[in-house]
Amino acid sequence: MPGILYIVATPIGNLEDITLRALRILKEVDLIACEDTRHTLKLLNHFEIKKPLVSYFEHNQVRRTPQIVAELGKGRNVALVSDAGTPAISDPGFPLVREAIAQGVTVVPIPGPSAVIAALSAAGLPTDSFQFIGFLPPKSGRRHNLLESFKEEEATLVIYESPHRILKTLEEASQVFGQRPAVLARELTKIYEEFMRGTLWELLERVRQSPPKGEMVLLIAGKR
Ligand code: SAM
Repeated sequence: MPGILYIVATPIGNLEDITLRALRILKEVDLIACEDTRHTLKLLNHFEIKKPLVSYFEHNQVRRTPQIVAELGKGRNVALVSDAGTPAISDPGFPLVREAIAQGVTVVPIPGPSAVIAALSAAGLPTDSFQFIGFLPPKSGRRHNLLESFKEEEATLVIYESPHRILKTLEEASQVFGQRPAVLARELTKIYEEFMRGTLWELLERVRQSPPKGEMVLLIAGKR
């Protein structure tokens, strides 16, 4: 019998945001595949969990996938975690999940934090339908075309951003979407958690005056 692959969500900042089930699974599996072993070691040490770790990150996930699937084939249970939040959501994971399924391995999600859901749940924009865009392409032309393609979208748009690119993104988004309501959700679950609410133009002005730090999610109201 092959082992089980568990996709385990971990905190996005606040260590209290880990589920009892996630802790039990991390204690029970034979192996933990993680993005950054040092980062995951800190989490495991905090919860006094000792387990063999194997790195699984963006640039080795194709090479590592068959190795991890081979371990599953030997009947060993494996947990996949990322540095923060839910693995495979703008994080490594998809190739492993796909290959595990192809090889007849059972894949079990252990749900928990994800910045997209945390941001959306408290932003105050419509939540009945949303379009998760994740990270925008780095090249300005492709980024602009992608934003344009969502101009008629009625669902709330959710974009993962970084402090060094948020100004550029807000400039481009306000050109495409104009005065739409938007929210910049920053440092979720951490001490300096902040929700900046306004129109895209207002957010642009505030970000120009005082560039925000930390991790952030940009949400833009859909066309309604
Ligand atoms: N897998 C993660 C998840 O489920 O949310 C996302 C990982 S992705 C590499 C990192 C991006 O998620 C950041 O650039 C930011 O856009 C968003 N993010 C992660 N943690 C966050 C936080 N505490 N507050 C706001 N945004 C966060």
